Amino acid sequence: MKVAVVGAGWAGISAAVALADAGHDIAVFEMAPQAGGRARSVAGEPDYDNGQHILIGAYRDSLALMRHLGADPEQVLKRLPLALPYPGEPGLCLPPGPPLIAFARGVLAHGGWPLSARLGLLAAAGSWLARGFRCDPRLSVAELCAGLPGPVKRDLVEPLCVAALNTPAPQASAQVFLRVLKDALFSGAGSADLLLPRRPLSELLAGPATAWLGKRLRLGQRVQRLESGWRVDGEAFDAVVLACTSVEAARLANSIAPDWAATAQALRFEPIITVYLNSPGSALPAPMLALREGPDAPAQFVFDHGQLGGAPGRFAFVVSGAAPWVDRGGCAEAVLAQAQRELRWVTPPVVDKVLTEKRATFACTPGLARPPARIAPGLWAAGDYVDGPYPATLEGAVRAGLAAAQGVGADAATGAGAKGAASGSPTNTP
Ligand SMILES: Cc1cc2nc3c(=O)[nH]c(=O)nc-3n(C[C@H](O)[C@H](O)[C@H](O)COP(=O)(O)OP(=O)(O)OC[C@H]3O[C@@H](n4cnc5c(N)ncnc54)[C@H](O)[C@@H]3O)c2cc1C
Repeated sequence: MKVAVVGAGWAGISAAVALADAGHDIAVFEMAPQAGGRARSVAGEPDYDNGQHILIGAYRDSLALMRHLGADPEQVLKRLPLALPYPGEPGLCLPPGPPLIAFARGVLAHGGWPLSARLGLLAAAGSWLARGFRCDPRLSVAELCAGLPGPVKRDLVEPLCVAALNTPAPQASAQVFLRVLKDALFSGAGSADLLLPRRPLSELLAGPATAWLGKRLRLGQRVQRLESGWRVDGEAFDAVVLACTSVEAARLANSIAPDWAATAQALRFEPIITVYLNSPGSALPAPMLALREGPDAPAQFVFDHGQLGGAPGRFAFVVSGAAPWVDRGGCAEAVLAQAQRELRWVTPPVVDKVLTEKRATFACTPGLARPPARIAPGLWAAGDYVDGPYPATLEGAVRAGLAAAQGVGADAATGAGAKGAASGSPTNTP
């Protein structure tokens, strides 16, 4: 079949590669001058990422896709056992070994928490495990964890929640949070490992994908119009995968599947601000440190790029769930003050670059209705926002791409698709 993929972020790349591997003739439309979407290096400044990203060992399909395209995860990522050290405190550190035992040993060995807090966390984890990591979908993370000891909420639940779901615990979906915990902490050996990029983000996937796709990737082409049947800006295809953002997918699908478009359009977003500081000669005690967020302390994590094979003396401070700081302003100055208060510097740090992604991820709230992958016969959506168990992550995007590619194949096998699609009105001009 001739299949159009609209968008070359991680979801679009994943869909395109799976479709091409299945023997389809593909064309990938990407409006930006480069592939990668939100997970790429900054255009024209390949040394900087469009926001610090981390992967974990449980990102099975992302790692497989990287390997398939020729990027060796062992080379481009630094694998570390899960550790959440704070400045001057070792924090939670998981030893190697089977996940359940490693978790229990790590929690019991936590020197900064009283025994009652460690036992309280183990009891809660045991009850989540017993219930299959499921809960009432209307619960927030703060509600789920209300009974946990204060230090556990402050040092583990809140930073993990905002890092994984990019949504603060009082507004975040407990069901999605539990799923992340299950896959990261309680799955196969190494699932919880942190995989920190040692190379610019575009070298992980977008660059290798660009080479692999060759002329099938049409950069700088924003799709304006989708007509059922299928026509993409007038060009005929047998099937289409919308792997663009939810906002763009809603615009393109609006006249074909208005209910689907309304669900996609209703998603709300959370920003992430990345503040790069420079301090020549300085280094952190670990490549990644957790930081305590507060009214005057925006960042939850800091990464030492010198220890990750990047520019020595460059530090990326991550402010997730950053809506209050986008509204209030002054985030970079507050991060600089936080850095000066909480960390030791050989030379005074200065702000190097500030990147604000206002629509970094969808707000992962309780009971959220996410649009399904199948929009119409032969028309599929792929993206981190598509209905699924995960929050907006690279792995969620890659899996959504694989699912859409499989759906296109399944539609073809059953005779649904271009010929079976309902005829909708063809007007989607922005
Ligand atoms: C600052 C930041 C930090 C993050 N940190 C992490 C992290 O640590 N770990 C993690 O797992 N995830 C992280 N994420 C989330 C992760 O980046 C996303 O979940 C993932 O990149 C989404 O991929 P996608 O393909 O679904 O969407 P996108 O990356 O948004 O791709 C959509 C693509 O479609 C293109 N497009 C849009 N409209 C059109 C059109 N009409 N025609 C053609 N092309 C179009 C866009 O240009 C874009 O390239 C972070 C995100 C941000 C912003």
